[in-house]
Amino acid sequence: MHRRLFLGSVLGAAAAGGTLARVLAATASAPVPGDVPATRLGGGETVLPRSAVQDFRASLRGPVLMAGEDGYDRARQVWNGMIDRRPALIACCSGVADVARSVQFARANDLLVAVRSGGHSTSGQSVCDGGLMIDLAPMRGVRVDPRARRARVPAGSLLGELDREAQFFGLATTAGTVSHTGAAGLTLGGGFGRLGRRFGLSCDNLVSVDVVTAGGELVRASRDENRDLFWGLRGGGGNFGIATSFEYRLHEVDPTVLGGPIIFPFDRARQVLDFFVEFTATAPDELNLDCAIVAPPGAKPMVVLEVCYSGDLARGEKVIAPARSFLKPLADQVKAMPYLTLQSGGDEANAPGRQYYVKSGFVEAVDPALLDAMVAGFSGAPGRSTVMLLQLLGGAIGRVNPDATAFNHRKARFDLLVLGGWADPAQTAEHNAWIKGFWSELEPYTRGYYFNTTIGDSQEKVRANFGANYPRLVQLKNRYDPGNLFRLNANVQPS
Ligand SMILES: Cc1cc2nc3c(=O)[nH]c(=O)nc-3n(C[C@H](O)[C@H](O)[C@H](O)COP(=O)(O)OP(=O)(O)OC[C@H]3O[C@@H](n4cnc5c(N)ncnc54)[C@H](O)[C@@H]3O)c2cc1C
Repeated sequence: MHRRLFLGSVLGAAAAGGTLARVLAATASAPVPGDVPATRLGGGETVLPRSAVQDFRASLRGPVLMAGEDGYDRARQVWNGMIDRRPALIACCSGVADVARSVQFARANDLLVAVRSGGHSTSGQSVCDGGLMIDLAPMRGVRVDPRARRARVPAGSLLGELDREAQFFGLATTAGTVSHTGAAGLTLGGGFGRLGRRFGLSCDNLVSVDVVTAGGELVRASRDENRDLFWGLRGGGGNFGIATSFEYRLHEVDPTVLGGPIIFPFDRARQVLDFFVEFTATAPDELNLDCAIVAPPGAKPMVVLEVCYSGDLARGEKVIAPARSFLKPLADQVKAMPYLTLQSGGDEANAPGRQYYVKSGFVEAVDPALLDAMVAGFSGAPGRSTVMLLQLLGGAIGRVNPDATAFNHRKARFDLLVLGGWADPAQTAEHNAWIKGFWSELEPYTRGYYFNTTIGDSQEKVRANFGANYPRLVQLKNRYDPGNLFRLNANVQPS
């Protein structure tokens, strides 16, 4: 059954909900000083008449911010401090009506559009220069139905909120490993996490998604409604509309897991990598084991096996025993701990606001020459945190056919990424150059990439990365966004 809610009724419902008084109050308190220069959808400049901006502002329940106003600089900041873009307008959406109204305003004025939820796009795709930033960050409030084992997650919610609400009931679904990441962007692009080998990608756990399309309609996508769109939303990113709310399937996950790092000296890196690759080939789905080479600024690198066993703890001890004994570690900090503690343990190391640069690619079969290159080329630097991570995939992720969802990299065993983070913008050129150079040694051993971490620097790369799924994605794009309003993403271009 289709559930389409047209713009008029969306706005009507908002007004009937008693928002009109607040809208009027907001308008009165924030008059628009003059015409507003802006960027067109296809590039080039335009000028928004003062009256049009004033009307737009009056029609939203949330504030519409402009340069110089309170909250503007904060709203345009995203996770990566390297990104410094200045939208003409930021629509801070309080609900579906605001989102739909913003889409309509962008279309009517031919504006470039950026869509932001958690703001963790490394390349800053969720903020634009001169256009309209449609900001869903205010749309929060995860609701769990423990009996149905479902979570309703408004698009601005962060992963930590989903984990926390679900774990209260002994439930969880696959979510990423840093709790301040946005659920929306992560899920639309796939979604890896410590439970992925048991339950699949975050997008594999979707029951339904509410989406405002480029036409300003609210539609629901699920197995029963708009099935084609549901296929595209599971790995096709933000190409087909603005997701306003996600419904996830939850699973029983004991709040205590076996987790933590086992740390080895860097001079044993190759031995650790060999063990890791062989050991994980037969690991049970309950075990997530990632391998990282890490160098804090100016410090010696070390090798870390990061454990999360989310099944029976006694069995987990047996499963991970080889990882604790194949080589004497510098430290073994694996212990029974709350899953929530593990899920937020990396928050500070990945804090928003620093300069970040990342390169990544999938590894299907591990060539020993890749491991050689990883060890030979890795180096830290004063001022830079450097991380090279082999994130384990497989299990339930790989048991889904590549054409069952838009996410097609089901055969990947690992996601390999090189990430640098530093505080001083003056060091950016130097660190970016090192990461690019190092990545050029590793990339030949990878096959495709995760566009949630690397957007792809050309249209050909984006197309190739979606592989055999690309033609179907183009069909969907033609149907849901023929004017390519939603283009700041791993963009599928309409034909
Ligand atoms: C510190 C950190 C840790 C991470 N850890 C993991 C991890 O463990 N697993 C993993 O899979 N990924 C991980 N990622 C990558 C993450 O999946 C992406 O950065 C993802 O884009 C974040 O989503 P967001 O909503 O925060 O991003 P945003 O920057 O808000 O958006 C990212 C993209 O999605 C689009 N978009 C956002 N919201 C919507 C929406 N509601 N509707 C339509 N389009 C939308 C945006 O336009 C943009 O193109 C991590 C990233 C960071 C920075």
